[in-house]
Amino acid sequence: MDEHIDDCIIIGAGPAGLTAAIYLARYHLSIRLFDCGTSRAAMIPCTRNHAGFPDGIKGTELLDRMGAQAAKYGALRENRKVERLERKDGVFVVDTDSGTWRARTVLLATGVVNRYPDTLPRPLHDEALSKDLLRYCPVCDGYEVTDKRVAVIGTGEHGTAEALFLRGFTADITLISPHGDHDLDDQCREKLADAGISHVAGPCGGFAMEGGQLAFDTANGRMAFDSVYPAMGSDVRSSLAQMAGAATSDEGCIAVGDHLETNVPGLFAAGDVVIGLDQISHAMGQAGVAATRIRNLLAEERPLRR
Ligand SMILES: Cc1cc2nc3c(=O)[nH]c(=O)nc-3n(C[C@H](O)[C@H](O)[C@H](O)COP(=O)(O)OP(=O)(O)OC[C@H]3O[C@@H](n4cnc5c(N)ncnc54)[C@H](O)[C@@H]3O)c2cc1C
Repeated sequence: MDEHIDDCIIIGAGPAGLTAAIYLARYHLSIRLFDCGTSRAAMIPCTRNHAGFPDGIKGTELLDRMGAQAAKYGALRENRKVERLERKDGVFVVDTDSGTWRARTVLLATGVVNRYPDTLPRPLHDEALSKDLLRYCPVCDGYEVTDKRVAVIGTGEHGTAEALFLRGFTADITLISPHGDHDLDDQCREKLADAGISHVAGPCGGFAMEGGQLAFDTANGRMAFDSVYPAMGSDVRSSLAQMAGAATSDEGCIAVGDHLETNVPGLFAAGDVVIGLDQISHAMGQAGVAATRIRNLLAEERPLRR
């Protein structure tokens, strides 16, 4: 094992991890970023709500720019998947698929993975996403579906809440259950009826792009929409946090304090993996706070002086 100990290892090079890398590298700290190439930001065809880009910016371009900025100040990047994390004798041991590293502090910025119907093949999923026929984030791109024909694939309180949120952008919304019948209590049904949102039972299958829309089969026959939002929740990538002893919520979000520190000393988390708005701006803001707290924590252990 390499005996070198980094000041901070950041796991995840999405907007949160890269922002932290820029801050920490500019604090003259030795830092290392690990990433396995699955940022949610890389799925964004063009973000139009991220401040500073009036004509929008492609997710991969934003990540490239941030990566170049972090590298410019000395952040080292390893394109590897981290498989194990533990804190031993006050030092974090980070095991990857091809080597082990050690660090005084760790920032987890591992994000989440959106769920979508398993009847939607991945190549079609990706193509529909690139054409804005499939969307995941009403907060980000509800504006783009203004007065369009929209489906929300989901049910229960979560599906209802997403459909109601989108009602602020269009009157033509259908809530479609991903499986069989809907799981909607009286309150959800009342809210949907009040907002004029129809609901249709599933299952959803036979997805195809037809006439510039995304079409699929439902209990009411074949339906087609300008944009479809899966609202089936997400899987939070917090297993490394749990391995290291950090507390997580029932949904798996990493529990943190005001400065983004977990209950494990020296272990921080930022971005989608922490409960929050699941937005680039939020991920970046949290990362800036976490990075500065990490810097100050390290300065308590040894003076940081030039
Ligand atoms: C289709 C779509 C459109 C969106 N549009 C917008 C928008 O317009 N505006 C907006 O603000 N937000 C948008 N979002 C949300 C935005 O993408 C996320 O909020 C943001 O990417 C969160 O950043 P993050 O750094 O927390 O996580 P991520 O960007 O998901 O990055 C997490 C990183 O961790 C890495 N990782 C995970 N586990 C490991 C491991 N074990 N080892 C090594 N690396 C690991 C992954 O490879 C990944 O690169 C959109 C999301 C989607 C899916």
